[in-house]
Amino acid sequence: MDQKRRREADQLFRGAIGRLINSVLAHGRVASGGPLDNPSKGSSVDLDSDPTVTFAAPAPPLGFQPGAILAQRYRIVHLLGRGGMGEVYRADDLVLGQAVALKFLPPAATAEASALSRFRNEVRTARQISHPNICRVYDIGEAEGLTYLSMEYVDGEDLASLLRRIGKLPQDKALEVARQICAGLAAAHDKGVIHRDLKPANVMLDGKGSVRITDFGLAGIAAHIRDVRSGTPAYMSPEQIAGKEVTPRSDIYALGIVLHELLTGKRPPLDPGDADLGPEIAPVVQRCLEPNPQRRPESVLQVSAALPGGDPLAAALARGETPAPEVVANAGPIEGLRPSVAAACLAVAILGLGLLCVLRQRHDLINQIPMENSSEVLAAKAREIARSFGYTEKPVDTLFAWQYDTDYLRYASEQKNTLARDARLYAPYPPAIYFWSRQSPHYPINSDVTYEQYSFNRDTLEPGMQAVVLDSEGRLLEFQARPPAVARSEHRTELFDWDKLFAAAGLDVAAFKAVQPQFTPGSPFDAQAAWTGSAEGENLRVEAAAYEGRPVSFRVLEPWTRPSEPTPVSFGSFSTPTFVLGVLVLPAVAGLLAWRNARTGRGDRRGAFRVAGFLFLVSLLAFLAATHHVPTVTEFVILFSALRYALAFAALGWVLYMGFEPQLRRRDPESLISWNRLLAGRLRDPMVGGHLLGGVAFGVLAFSATDAFAPLRFVSFAAPKVAYSFFSLWCGDLIAATAGGLSFALLLHLISTVIRPRWLRVPVFVLVATLLLSPGYGVLSFATVARPTVVFLILGVTLARFGVLATVAVAYVAFVTQDFPLTTNWSAWYARPALFGMATLVGLALFGFVTTLRSRSLSSHHSGRG
Ligand code: ADP
Ligand code: MG
Repeated sequence: MDQKRRREADQLFRGAIGRLINSVLAHGRVASGGPLDNPSKGSSVDLDSDPTVTFAAPAPPLGFQPGAILAQRYRIVHLLGRGGMGEVYRADDLVLGQAVALKFLPPAATAEASALSRFRNEVRTARQISHPNICRVYDIGEAEGLTYLSMEYVDGEDLASLLRRIGKLPQDKALEVARQICAGLAAAHDKGVIHRDLKPANVMLDGKGSVRITDFGLAGIAAHIRDVRSGTPAYMSPEQIAGKEVTPRSDIYALGIVLHELLTGKRPPLDPGDADLGPEIAPVVQRCLEPNPQRRPESVLQVSAALPGGDPLAAALARGETPAPEVVANAGPIEGLRPSVAAACLAVAILGLGLLCVLRQRHDLINQIPMENSSEVLAAKAREIARSFGYTEKPVDTLFAWQYDTDYLRYASEQKNTLARDARLYAPYPPAIYFWSRQSPHYPINSDVTYEQYSFNRDTLEPGMQAVVLDSEGRLLEFQARPPAVARSEHRTELFDWDKLFAAAGLDVAAFKAVQPQFTPGSPFDAQAAWTGSAEGENLRVEAAAYEGRPVSFRVLEPWTRPSEPTPVSFGSFSTPTFVLGVLVLPAVAGLLAWRNARTGRGDRRGAFRVAGFLFLVSLLAFLAATHHVPTVTEFVILFSALRYALAFAALGWVLYMGFEPQLRRRDPESLISWNRLLAGRLRDPMVGGHLLGGVAFGVLAFSATDAFAPLRFVSFAAPKVAYSFFSLWCGDLIAATAGGLSFALLLHLISTVIRPRWLRVPVFVLVATLLLSPGYGVLSFATVARPTVVFLILGVTLARFGVLATVAVAYVAFVTQDFPLTTNWSAWYARPALFGMATLVGLALFGFVTTLRSRSLSSHHSGRG
């Protein structure tokens, strides 16, 4: 094509005749299957009507004539239009016998080598996306010294021209088009391709009214051209205009404008909160148009879901609202786990628990100590010993339990040589775990109204009470008695024979020599003595005191025994900052938030009430089960303190839930879907079942692995509680798992507001949780460091991947398998409670298994019918 013909074509094109011809051509094309119903005007070329680009120096038109053959392959059919970048022709691909669109770039766009290579890059990316709503790019080529792009020919009209023609689309059509634009954009964003030049002129509607987005990724080259023109980048996001980063959210900004034009026929005013859009759509468009990209909807799918008829959960998020709890519960899949996955989880849960029992039998301290006597046998033995010391009255009330010698454990954990340490710990004498029994001629008056009943306390004996401490074989370790308040009638003066104490303790008197007493007995006494000596290779000190011919105090003191002074204030296994944060700061912050959330209606009242109700009931049961009940008026005191305790717990739970849950629901509603279904009472929901089953399986797998690779010698610290009331302990585990799952979710949420990169959140969570919450095992060893790290890693991953309910299940596994002393020795006194603890885990897994497969059996019935 020579210069002369080009110039001619130029004049022709720009003249009235050109317009006429062109509109006739366009008319004919649209008539062959135009978009929507009114094909009065096709994509006529109107150089001045496009508001986005004004040509400072218009490039001369190419003016290919119909019938011209290009690159020995394409026969030009007619000009489709002329836009910001160049001319677009309809052509026939003679090789493949197909209609194509050829887009010619102005020479300026490809003159430089750099621009050309950039163009090729963009075509390369554009070719990767394949979606029904995206106009496919085929290839690039050169003809007549011009670079062109071949692409799918869309038999239809672009939105810019359509809107010029008919003003605006009816709402239902507009929404249909909008959803398709979103689908196409989402597919591209999914591949990491950003459009950068979304505008009505780049959205085409074909004959069936379905959407094709054109010019994907080509904006780079367009921007290059714009440099030489004075363009108004009317669809560009502020960050794009400022030349800052271009992200999918820049496309979302442009999408906002396109939506506005689709629905109103006008570009949005400066303040887009206008009434034209209606209350449902206006906030969505407004959010798309936020100048700050961070405040725009996160993804195109959120936008499409937010449009009327879309997904209400995404809709709430896209409108920047906190989705209602019901909306959260109704989001997400209806189906549960696949049958094969569910079966695998169940198998892992059951086999893993079996493995855990075997491992614990081998390394958990409690299983190494001979436990041939039941608690009842030892209690009878204790009474026998007291009687032999002259305490012959029949006791009215007896209380007994087991306890770890924490002084011994602390001492052992400080030993360097672990083999020697374990050998000593496992040796039956001196015992690492002992039995204590307290007997009384009357029902206790002051004590026993507190929850922490089961620990031996030699300082709270009431007058007339005796306490006997034995090892598991029945040897006396300690004896304490408070003489009755009123002296016995016949005043006795004979001295007590200390040898009786040595005999009960199984110690050889000959191996001990008398020394000066050091300990002051807790009761009045009229005789006192002390000895040092050794037994079973251990240096021991023995202290004793008697009053009116009966012993009132006897202790076998090991080198590690600390004097029984009031213990310094300690927060148990929590560090002080955790305690201050947990007990003082958190409830205060939660209280303020709860008050606000209750007023604004953002809080989940029903959920908070149910959580509080659960906490009330379970903690009431835990308290009552762990309390020593007596048939006296004290029982009312017990009942009232139980109620007070449970109410306080429930109130705290309510405040925390009302305060913090909405934050989580807003930021990460997905993590609350199954949890909210459970709270709504949908016990038989397949997703609930799946998360319970998965959580148990995940937890069991993780803990049997940690036990196999990083065994800890003393796991079951709660064994005394097991002895006292395993039911109470189990209730406590339920509460701890619920509170734990929710607080871990809150912690991860707080971390994710500070830490932007997703992959970093779980590692930071593990670090923070380990530092804050890991119980002080004393020494640093592989086991003591690996264990909490692995536990928190499992919790973090479960939380991030499956949400709150599965995390609660994992935490429940953690608490039950740590509190209940798992064993394969069925004759031990703790075997039955341990079996109960495990049975609840298997039961939970089975329940999850059955419920998660429920949807499958239902849907297979349906599909059977067609
Ligand atoms: P703009 O810069 O305004 O997007 P283009 O140069 O991309 O303009 O396209 C000009 C016109 O050509 C469009 O408005 C559209 O009507 C038409 N067009 C573009 N691509 C195609 C195609 N693949 N199939 C049919 N028509 C097209
Ligand atoms: Mg275009």
